Amino acid sequence: MPPQVLDLLKSRFGYDSFLPLQEEIVRHTLGKEHSLVLMPTGGGKSLCYQLPALCLDGLTLVVSPLIALMKDQVDALRGNGIPAAFVNSSMTAAEIGGIHSAALMGRVKILYIAPERLMVRGFVSFLESASVSLIAIDEAHCISEWGHDFRPDFRNLKTLRTRFPDVPCIALTATATERVREDIVAQLDISNGKTFLSSFNRENLSYSVLPKSDRFSELLRLLRKHRGESSIIYCFSRKDTEELVEDLREEGLSALAYHAGLDPSTRRSNQERFIRDEVPIIVATIAFGMGIDKPDVRLIVHYDMPKSVESYYQETGRAGRDSLPSDCVLFYTPGDRSRQEYWIGQMEDAEEKRRARRKLDGMVEYSELTGCRRSYLLSYFGEEFQDPNCGGCDACLAGMEEFDATIIAQQILSAVIRTGERYGSAHVANVLRGSRAKRVIESGHDKLSVYGIARELSKDEIQGITRQLIDGGLLAKAEGEYPTLAVTTAGREFLRSRASLRLARKKERPSGKKPTDRSRLDYDRGLFELLRELRRTLAEERGVPPYVVFGDVSLVEMAYFLPQSRERFSRISGVGAAKLEEYGEVFVEHIREYGEEHGLQEREKPLERRKSRSVRRPGSTYAKTLELFRQGLSIDQIASQRGLSPGTVIGHLERLAAHGEEIDVRHQLDPERFALVKTEIERSDTPWLSAIRDALGDGYSYDEIRLVRLHLQRSPSNSSESRSMIASSSSSGSSGR
Ligand code: ADP
Ligand code: ZN
Repeated sequence: MPPQVLDLLKSRFGYDSFLPLQEEIVRHTLGKEHSLVLMPTGGGKSLCYQLPALCLDGLTLVVSPLIALMKDQVDALRGNGIPAAFVNSSMTAAEIGGIHSAALMGRVKILYIAPERLMVRGFVSFLESASVSLIAIDEAHCISEWGHDFRPDFRNLKTLRTRFPDVPCIALTATATERVREDIVAQLDISNGKTFLSSFNRENLSYSVLPKSDRFSELLRLLRKHRGESSIIYCFSRKDTEELVEDLREEGLSALAYHAGLDPSTRRSNQERFIRDEVPIIVATIAFGMGIDKPDVRLIVHYDMPKSVESYYQETGRAGRDSLPSDCVLFYTPGDRSRQEYWIGQMEDAEEKRRARRKLDGMVEYSELTGCRRSYLLSYFGEEFQDPNCGGCDACLAGMEEFDATIIAQQILSAVIRTGERYGSAHVANVLRGSRAKRVIESGHDKLSVYGIARELSKDEIQGITRQLIDGGLLAKAEGEYPTLAVTTAGREFLRSRASLRLARKKERPSGKKPTDRSRLDYDRGLFELLRELRRTLAEERGVPPYVVFGDVSLVEMAYFLPQSRERFSRISGVGAAKLEEYGEVFVEHIREYGEEHGLQEREKPLERRKSRSVRRPGSTYAKTLELFRQGLSIDQIASQRGLSPGTVIGHLERLAAHGEEIDVRHQLDPERFALVKTEIERSDTPWLSAIRDALGDGYSYDEIRLVRLHLQRSPSNSSESRSMIASSSSSGSSGR
């Protein structure tokens, strides 16, 4: 990988290294080849086209179906100093024209559009003059009729491919079956490209299933564990969501509902308040989640069982996109099946019915599993999981234990026989527990000798054991609408022979053992909360979601390393050059104060050492900038000629100067403004540009201040100390100030 690409990874995105497959995909894309990228949510798909976009000359076009997300994505890119924009039909012709001409001048590197834009007259010819260097297709499964959210507009992409056959095309999706995958490749005509398939294991998610009895207090326990953190609770019906929101409010928790029955403006506002961290809990039907990109959802609860493993994986996939540990909990009772089956019964098409039943079976199987849930999920999608202990599901964590099930098994089998083999497991459990349910009394089953002989067990426990007896072939369950139970020949033999039986059951409660999370640092919670609050305030001032300021990973690192200087702060993950300038000072200020108050020391975050940077290598991006600079072009001219932002060009000049290159920018600066900025830099004597800009007012940009600073640092009166400071602003790993 060329060193300047690694430089950009840190200076623009703030990352020291790639996530799995990103490097290969970036390299492949820079080689101008097509690709199909299959990665789970949170796998880091965006970087696969955003980083190449910065390296290639010309414009990167991103086609995305989710208009609602474009603004947040563009805000996030701009927050990193990357010139990005979007156009959509809600904008005026003048606004769109403005963006088009900025793109033509090379001032927009990444342009987001929805597919219908391609049909707007004049748009494709605009693209032709804009010299498109990369086409990225997000949520590429939308192109396929076989997929679950087919969007006819995506068929327009064919035009794009025909008009720009030589431009590399990268299609990305988190959901693709074999069939959809083939369809994407065929539709986009990228069969000569490469497919990148990453594991769909979400390592940072832990999975568990809890019985429904007492689910509200269990839910409260979970929400207490995740107090103040973003949580989504999925319910079966709209009415359920409303009721649960009420119940949570009575417990003093701040929660909002989200479902298709709310009017659009309430829905939008509830979603917005969740994204902006104003309300931590959303209680939703499955309608929620499509349009959000929130990376720090820490808890996903299914208050009722979903209809398929596909839905479950997708909905839980919204947790922990930022790779920090997050929990996925499902409440289950065997009765959930009938609720879903009722809906399946309403379906007209026999084939559709059959398919829905099969999916439901898979979901029930997951819910009643005694083994590893992660391994089940992955094998459901055709991936093998080797580790015998995943370290992140209830089965692996709690450890299932074996117990002597001889007596209870005999009791269940007898109850099935005594009730005439005409009932399902719920009724049998009721009889054994001595329930006064209407059906038990009416059928006279309260008179049987088995009535009430297993009162000490819960209904869920009895049904769980029943399930294992079915699996073990001692009981048979009728297929179809009424799954009545009958004792098999093996079952009768078991009763007659008085054999003993051992079955698995869950240990009482995970014995305080925590998921083995490899990633988590033992950071200071108080400081983390303080920084979270600071992030929220800064985001509000700027009108962006908090995660656009910094993600939780960055805050966790700050609360662990407690960086006290500009250079140390720049080492934090997620801190690139733009964020260093924009937020470095205020964050370091808060961290330092907190550290003093609590007697905490800074810890040094090790620098990721990389191969030497070839700033002076002929043909490098720096050398190209230097050449144009020597020809006397202005920063803006260089920027537009090279298709870079002015900030990037200044960054190049800073790096060149730090490596001893003679960079004289004085003639680029207005003398009067230069004098003012110079005075302020000298007066404030701070390494933070934001402090200087605040003092100067809005009329001065970071770029202008950086230029003046660059000039001041080259005069001989300045010590070499300040020189290394500049080098650190582009994170080259100098030793600080
Ligand atoms: P996807 O689109 O696949 O769901 P994103 O592109 O939103 O994933 O990235 C998921 C998360 O991973 C984001 O929070 C992003 O900031 C983070 N991320 C992406 N690439 C890296 C990297 N190389 N190093 C660290 N974090 C990364
Ligand atoms: Zn497991």
